[in-house]
Amino acid sequence: MFHGIRLSSSFVFLAILSSCTSQPPVPSSSAPPAVSDTFVIDGAQIWDGTGTPPVQDAVLVVTGDRIEALGARGSLKIPAGAKTIPAQGKTLIPGLINLHGHVGMTKGLKASRENYSKENILAHLKQYARYGVTTVMSLGTDFEPMFEIRGPAKAEEDPRATVFTAGRGFTGKNGYPAVLPGYAGVPREVDTVEQVKSNLEELARQKVDVVKIWVDDHWGHYPKIRPELYGAIIAEAHKQNLRVMAHLFYLEDARRLIEAGLDGMAHSIRDHEVDDSLIKLLKEKKAFAIPTLTREESTFIYANPPAFLDDPFFRKWVDPEVITTLKDPAYAKKVKSDPDFSKYPQQLKIAKKNLKKLWDAGVLIGFGTDTGPPGRFQGYFEHRELELMVQAGLTPSQALQAATSNAAECLHIARDYGTLEAGKRADLILLDADPFEDILNTRKINQVWIGGRPVN
Ligand SMILES: [Zn+2]
Repeated sequence: MFHGIRLSSSFVFLAILSSCTSQPPVPSSSAPPAVSDTFVIDGAQIWDGTGTPPVQDAVLVVTGDRIEALGARGSLKIPAGAKTIPAQGKTLIPGLINLHGHVGMTKGLKASRENYSKENILAHLKQYARYGVTTVMSLGTDFEPMFEIRGPAKAEEDPRATVFTAGRGFTGKNGYPAVLPGYAGVPREVDTVEQVKSNLEELARQKVDVVKIWVDDHWGHYPKIRPELYGAIIAEAHKQNLRVMAHLFYLEDARRLIEAGLDGMAHSIRDHEVDDSLIKLLKEKKAFAIPTLTREESTFIYANPPAFLDDPFFRKWVDPEVITTLKDPAYAKKVKSDPDFSKYPQQLKIAKKNLKKLWDAGVLIGFGTDTGPPGRFQGYFEHRELELMVQAGLTPSQALQAATSNAAECLHIARDYGTLEAGKRADLILLDADPFEDILNTRKINQVWIGGRPVN
């Protein structure tokens, strides 16, 4: 939706102020925001995130952390004295929303509970911000101090991505990912319904934004959480008014989880193509799906040094030592020594097919990457994800819709996030080139704003 002319009282006040020089109006008791809080992005093509075509030669006004007004040139008055950013030939889109990330656990190419700190969380949120990922759902690996950091950056902080959290997610006893190096004690390992209940009470006290479950045996290597336990997690979470997202892999697990009331799939189904009965079930239950195609790619792409390691957009913000390690033949050898290595490219192929099938069937598709763990680069991989979604058969506009308005709908945050509309948060990306002509143009970032503040 585009609100051509929707002027708030403060906006009208500014307009009057500019046209009336002899007799300045008496300031009202509800003083309007200072002009210095207001800026105008002038002349861009503006795409609002809903999937409708962009508006050419448009204007968007930001006051404080919110969008004040937007529309085609001439449809609204530009407040006098406000800073104007000329944007002819550029494209303005909403900031990207990643529904599946992990913050705070990784330094370099190592993930570990020991790395988890306020400093590391904020470093990761800044990294997302540089790439235009303005909101991230951190999915199941969070401890204190996340509960003081969560939400948008506070006024005294530098701009960074807004973060939502699932706290610590659930797995079964000795289940994935608790068994991975560095992850002991990260997920909640449950074996009884009683344990589920007490853990959920804690999550409810923490007011987590969603509840996370891992339902996967990784090709039979680890025990998988039992259906009676994830059924109890979903039922108890819903009693507490919490929604549930699951890491899953197999079609049959997806079916059982959705039947049990799961709200969202945090990955693609990757063992089989989805069938009509699952599609029907997803639509009936209004469950959403997040593809995380880059997660699949990351399992095999380092078998040879990928071209993106030399992409300036990647290199600009990544530690050169990490790049050197990833180019080392020893790293490639380690990747290829994984016993399941040969299965991974096929998983990505199935995931892509399923994305196109679910989108065409009208299932709500969100956006996520599973970035944060080693080799899954926060910020850069979100742009690669958009590219892979387009390779899977979505149009650039559809891929970007998944990453903006759809993602906000999945997370129930559409009141404030996900589209460019008057009153919503000013989370914006100004691009030097048109992403609808070529999805790679999302990488031509001119400027990012989060809550109306520029990210440097
Ligand atoms: Zn994950």
